[in-house]
Amino acid sequence: MKKIIFHIDMNSYFASVEQQANPFLRGKPIVVGGKEGSRSVIVAASIEAKKFGIKTAMPTFEAKKLCPNLIFLEPDGSKYMQTTKMFLKIFNQFSDKVEVFSIDEAFLDMTGWCKNWQSARDKANKIKFEIKQQIGERITCSIGIATNKLLAKLASDMQKPNGLVVINEKNKIQVLDSIKLDDFCGIGRRILQRLENIGVESVKKLRQYPVEKLVREFGPFYGQKLKDMSNGHDDSVVISAEQEAEVKSISRAYTLPYDTFDKQEILQVLLHLCEKCGRELRHKKLAGRTLQFFWRFSDFTHSGFRVTLDSYINDSLELYKRGLEILSRYRLPSAVRLIGIRVSNLAPNSRQIPLFQADRQRFELVPYLDQINDRYGELTVKPAHLLKLSRLRKKIGGFRQGSDDFS
Ligand SMILES: [Mg+2]
Repeated sequence: MKKIIFHIDMNSYFASVEQQANPFLRGKPIVVGGKEGSRSVIVAASIEAKKFGIKTAMPTFEAKKLCPNLIFLEPDGSKYMQTTKMFLKIFNQFSDKVEVFSIDEAFLDMTGWCKNWQSARDKANKIKFEIKQQIGERITCSIGIATNKLLAKLASDMQKPNGLVVINEKNKIQVLDSIKLDDFCGIGRRILQRLENIGVESVKKLRQYPVEKLVREFGPFYGQKLKDMSNGHDDSVVISAEQEAEVKSISRAYTLPYDTFDKQEILQVLLHLCEKCGRELRHKKLAGRTLQFFWRFSDFTHSGFRVTLDSYINDSLELYKRGLEILSRYRLPSAVRLIGIRVSNLAPNSRQIPLFQADRQRFELVPYLDQINDRYGELTVKPAHLLKLSRLRKKIGGFRQGSDDFS
């Protein structure tokens, strides 16, 4: 039997939550983040602000130019988290498989919960109704319905705000041929450029391009994945938070293009690995308590340190600090050729709000940074330390899962 998958994306989420909370802000162009007169960027824009052309990640001064009356609000992480909990509670009443994809998006596996496309539409409208009833008039969402996650996500993107789009066998190819390659979740700027370099400029061209050549260019995994995308195929499953917690460990390792003794360089790579690891943890809604840092040396011997903490963490910077502590005390016996980190002892991340103001600011900021990176590609926003990564930059695309690099 074919699956029925919903992708639900809240519209102008943070801004809508603010407008719901404060009637004075309703109907007005508002943005969250991007402190006035600073060099920061917009985190979210209301529907009214979007009409002026204001977008996420736009610099403050540019937004101000487009709309001089723009109202700026400080992000209020706990308020958004609270609202997210409320809509997830609603989703859980409609399906037993709800995957939290980001603070304002979720996948629902509705297979078995609706008979056909029409009953799927009815269910979607019921969800919209419940959100309005239980959370508020201002909170709207776009729902995409399809036979898999890839197409459902495309569908929810096609009508904003308050959309409801079905992609099925009848309109699938027509829809796929009308979108741009980077409309696919998973095709970022870098992949897009590489596709253009080999003359693949549209989804249709990608579909016609020989899979062997894609595999040669992008490797067996991603080459095949690109081909599947062009046909609208995707067999990934909707994974609920409980199932997700069964992942045993998350690790990242990197083999340097040359051996080095330079701790500064090693630390920069470590920071990058922690960033990757942290992002995966957060994406999977997990946090870990046991950290393992490991190195392989030029003579192929290896060494590592393991530490188990009192609390669960998933903030990249927090991971890095632990690594820094260990590495700064450690005398390298020979030149390093591989660096890795593994986080285990995992649990679903309850995201307890930190006690201290300084930690709290960072805690509330992390989801926004992730959102920007999700949307605009890895490391669009990154620790300043990584900007200095000069000698290694070209190789940075080669970071990969470390489990087969170290045992
Ligand atoms: Mg959204």
